[in-house]
Order: sequence, then structure tokens, then C-alpha cells
Amino acid sequence: MSGSAQGEPAGPRRIPALVLSGFLGSGKTTLVQRLLSDAADRGIRIALISNELGELGIDRALLGKGGQSYVELEGGCVCCELSDDLLETLVELQREINPDRFVIETSGVALPYDTQLNFWREPACDFIGDDMAVVVVNADQLAEGRDLEGTFVDQVQSADLLILNKIDLVPEADWPEIEARLREIEPEAPLIRAVRGDVDLDLLFPPDFGEFDRRGPTPESPPHHHEQFVTSEWNPEAGLSSEAIAAHLTSPGLLRAKGFAQTDEGPRLIQVVGRRIEISEPDEAPPEALLGRIVLIRRAPES
Ligand SMILES: [Zn+2]
Repeated sequence: MSGSAQGEPAGPRRIPALVLSGFLGSGKTTLVQRLLSDAADRGIRIALISNELGELGIDRALLGKGGQSYVELEGGCVCCELSDDLLETLVELQREINPDRFVIETSGVALPYDTQLNFWREPACDFIGDDMAVVVVNADQLAEGRDLEGTFVDQVQSADLLILNKIDLVPEADWPEIEARLREIEPEAPLIRAVRGDVDLDLLFPPDFGEFDRRGPTPESPPHHHEQFVTSEWNPEAGLSSEAIAAHLTSPGLLRAKGFAQTDEGPRLIQVVGRRIEISEPDEAPPEALLGRIVLIRRAPES
């Protein structure tokens, strides 16, 4: 087969994966429901793997809608005891459903980084694309100083993005103090505030080239404590070094980026996930029209 048909993909398409962690009560499940409902509306097929024992707040009707699929992994933790089951489940879902996105909701005690390590194992490494660890933190728990050691610290430190949820339960005057508390544990990962898991869901998956011309502030502007994000396009000139590109992408407030650049070493795939900047040789040559175009999603300046 190889080297024959032109325009045929070189291998299976890569599926982005989101690992969603956070203690029971952080509001993880509400966020999963938002993801499913948003995906159903937009015709995106999500395969959800949930390891959150007994939590099952998922609206089953939602799962039948728009081709979403759901697997529950029970009897242990998905980052350790069940890591082989996780791998097997990913492989089965890819083979049978070939979803557009994977969402792995871990148990409250799982470590996101250990869960992500499974994406590097054969054969998942052949079809898992961009992956991201999001940790949902209960603002109320932080304010009260409950359970802020051990697993909590490990989870927060391995987050690519932190969602400080239930912020409405804490008086606004205390927000700087609780954010500082979180910053003491994890100084670098982008942190966004949320009420009932209401975040811009585009932040949780790689920017979609098909939605390139969505510029300016996000369309809905809920009246409450919802942070605003701005999507823009950066067109780096050809011949820049990877270092120069990385330097440009090291700016506070940048949450995500994806695109292709013509560097001094050839075409490169550029991805920013939270604080991680990845510059790699693409599997195949990017389409001409996409070269030199990088989508940036950044936090809008506070007004
Ligand atoms: Zn575990």
C-alpha cells in the first residue's frame, strides 16, 4: 500500500485527547456534560472514557445523540491499576468508532501525567494526537484550605490548564488570595476562572483550521465571571529558527496555538498546549495554504 495512492493519509488520522482530572466535587462531571452537549450540537463525535467511580452524572440521552460513545472503567484507578484497560479501550474505540475526540475523565485520585503516559504506548501512539491535561479545582475547597496536600498537589502540578471552578462560591475580594495559593503550587500553568464549568470549550482541544476566521472576542458574553478569549492568526515569515518561533510563543496569556511554519530547517508543526511549546517535523508535508499560519488563542486583556 505504501507509496501508492496519492493524497491518501499516511496512517490513521490523529485524534486529540483530553485528560480531565480533579477531586470529587470539583465540577468535573458538569464540564464533561458541557463538552458532550457542545460536541453533539456541532456534530463532533466524542468518545468518553470515565473512571469516576459512582459519579455517573452523565446524561445518558446525551450519549446517544450525535454519535457520542461512552465507556466506564471500574475497579481501580486509570492512571495505575487500570492503565492496560485504558490502552485497550482507546484501541477498541479507535478501531470501532474512530471518534473525533477522546475525553478521559479520571477518578479524583488519578494523576493526569501518568494517565497521559499511556498515549505514548503502542499502538495508541500511532493514533492519539494533541493531548492535554486539564485539572478542575474547586475554588471553595481552596478558600477553606481543605485537602491541599498530596494528590491535590500532584494533580495541579501536572496540569496543562487549570480551571478554578465554582469561583462564585468565594467572595470576589478573596479571589487574588486563592489564586495565589494555587500559584504557590503551580506557578506556570494557565489558570482560568469558571462558574459551573462554563469555559470556552475551544481551549480544551486544538484550534480547528476550519474555524480560522472566527476572530475577535468569543460570541457569547455571559454576564458573570467568564473570562474572554481572543483567537488570532500569526503569520511567521519563512526561514525563522525554531528558537525564534518558540520565543514568540512564550508570551503570558497565550493558552493554545497550532499551525505550520516554514523554518530554516524546513516545515514544522507548531503546537502550544498551556505552557508546553512543541515544534516538530510533520508526518507529511502540510498543505501549501496552511504553511506560515498559526492560530493563537489568548486571554483577552482584563478590562
Ligand atoms: Zn492511579
